[in-house]
Amino acid sequence: MRTNIDEQAARVVSFHYTVWRDDGSEVDHSGDASPMLVLLGAGNVIAGVDRALAQMQVGEMRTVEIAAQDAYGPRDPALRQRVPRKTFAKVRDLKPGTQLQVRGPQGPQVVTVVKIGASVIDVDFNHPLAGVDLRFELRLVDERPATTEEIAHGHAHGPGGAQHG
Ligand code: ZN
Repeated sequence: MRTNIDEQAARVVSFHYTVWRDDGSEVDHSGDASPMLVLLGAGNVIAGVDRALAQMQVGEMRTVEIAAQDAYGPRDPALRQRVPRKTFAKVRDLKPGTQLQVRGPQGPQVVTVVKIGASVIDVDFNHPLAGVDLRFELRLVDERPATTEEIAHGHAHGPGGAQHG
């Protein structure tokens, strides 16, 4: 992964978050047990969160509004596709709105069922949060300098980050 990280200033931060859609419904939150660990500036998190964390001090809490283009991008109508119904023959209780994990070119990806016909299904390959403005509440728990290895890998190592060698 290519990054624009200044090796001297590279930081790993851990943070807790809650995220809501612009309609006020909660999308997700980190548990109290393990905060999320990221290498800043490496694209480990969406751009708007990365930028906000880079400006925060340890212990600080911040609420940020992040427009769709700095979150999961705009919704692309071309990503709505018609697939044979038998593609999902093994899935039970398929209905519009059902989200399924499929193997995409870049790994696992979530798709949303839009419409079910007799022999075909319309599926939306957009990220479920594409085109959605988000509000994050962030709390910066801790920070430390990044290791050479983390900078080379482009992500943070340890609990809440990548767990390997
Ligand atoms: Zn690694």
